[in-house]
Amino acid sequence: MRVELVNTGTELLLGDTVNTNAAWIGQRLAALGIQVTRQTIVPDGAVIRVAIAEAAQRSDVVLVSGGLGPTNDDLTRESTAELLSLPMELNEGVMEHLTAYFAKRNKIVNDATKRQAMVPKGASVMPNPFGTAPGLYFPASLGEPLGWNAHIFLLPGPPRELKPMIENEVEPRLREWLPDGASRRVLYLKVTGIGESDIVEAVEKQLEAVPGLDLGYCIRKGDVDVRLAGSQSAVDAAADIVRGAFGDCIVSEDRRIIEEVIVQLLTDRGEWMATAESCTGGTIASRITDVSGSSRVFGHGWVTYANEAKQQHLGVPAELFEKHGAVSEEVARAMAEGALRASGADHALSVTGIAGPTGGTPDKPVGTVWIGLASKAGETWAVKRFYPGMRDRFKLLTSQAALDLLRRRLCGLTPRS
Ligand code: ATP
Ligand code: MG
Repeated sequence: MRVELVNTGTELLLGDTVNTNAAWIGQRLAALGIQVTRQTIVPDGAVIRVAIAEAAQRSDVVLVSGGLGPTNDDLTRESTAELLSLPMELNEGVMEHLTAYFAKRNKIVNDATKRQAMVPKGASVMPNPFGTAPGLYFPASLGEPLGWNAHIFLLPGPPRELKPMIENEVEPRLREWLPDGASRRVLYLKVTGIGESDIVEAVEKQLEAVPGLDLGYCIRKGDVDVRLAGSQSAVDAAADIVRGAFGDCIVSEDRRIIEEVIVQLLTDRGEWMATAESCTGGTIASRITDVSGSSRVFGHGWVTYANEAKQQHLGVPAELFEKHGAVSEEVARAMAEGALRASGADHALSVTGIAGPTGGTPDKPVGTVWIGLASKAGETWAVKRFYPGMRDRFKLLTSQAALDLLRRRLCGLTPRS
């Protein structure tokens, strides 16, 4: 099924508004196993007409967002009606909705707004409980005289109005039109610690041999989503291949990110974690506290950037710095154990490394980092990683590796070599 998006709004081209509608729709359709084939952005005004005509000629479904509002440059509704030579009719249902919507806000419907109650003949109204402009659906049959075969959906621009309309009005229709819509499955396996190219190399050949499988990869914050879509049996077979290759590197199979998985694991066990961060500057603590419910599992986090701070707050012995340097296995271990003691938590993560661009040496180049994990039950772990590159990426990948170390302990695994 060829689905195209047309997003209108001068602000999208100026970069004042990020086109989040396109990203969101792309993800929603991907979950149905549909890949958007093309996306067009046009400014407000008459050009929307050309964009819709072009998209409708070459696709089965056209999703248009924006330009349904009351102002002069909101021309999506009228342009579509003109293209399809449909007369406009006042729709009583929409008029009632508008009247009630404005009455609630102690206003009356003005003439500009009344335009939103005009519905092209043959189109159906998609209700908009969160705004004034209704969505409109034009069945493909309306475009037949023009040689088109595209269902056209006009949707509001504001995301809070668009999203429910996609979920409640558009997706049910798309499902109906998909050949195996009802039985189609989509599974996301979130793999961490392995690069996309290594994943592809390890499993692509086997996955390509699964009949009817629709395969995709998406790189996210420090990990890779392997997206498997198709019939239940195709998805099951493919998932077994991926699990067989990367089993213990699979963080989740339900799109949860690693910090969510950790908060859940700790909550289930009734355990607490603490962090002692140097080069990540609080990134690990920040990621954990992004998760709702983290206050039940996270109580203490230190950012000990200076050696003195590591000594003062975590009790790292001064001689370790002289003997091994701040970026060393010994200091990582001492930081984790110090944080465990000082916090009373069940697990404490530590990181100490060289983010760069300055500060590297031949035996400790920029990007070198040691990650420690001390736990009340279990020996202290320390692993060395190397993430050369920009500072923000270094912080992200280091925090990811640290979180993964804790995940592995909570799952009864050993550290990755
Ligand atoms: P309105 O009645 O608000 O004019 P509309 O259907 O005409 O509705 P637009 O004027 O295109 O919608 O957009 C309204 C709001 O939604 C603006 O704040 C705009 O920045 C935002 N918006 C529009 N398109 C997108 C998009 N693709 N992604 C994110 N936000 C968007
Ligand atoms: Mg508008």
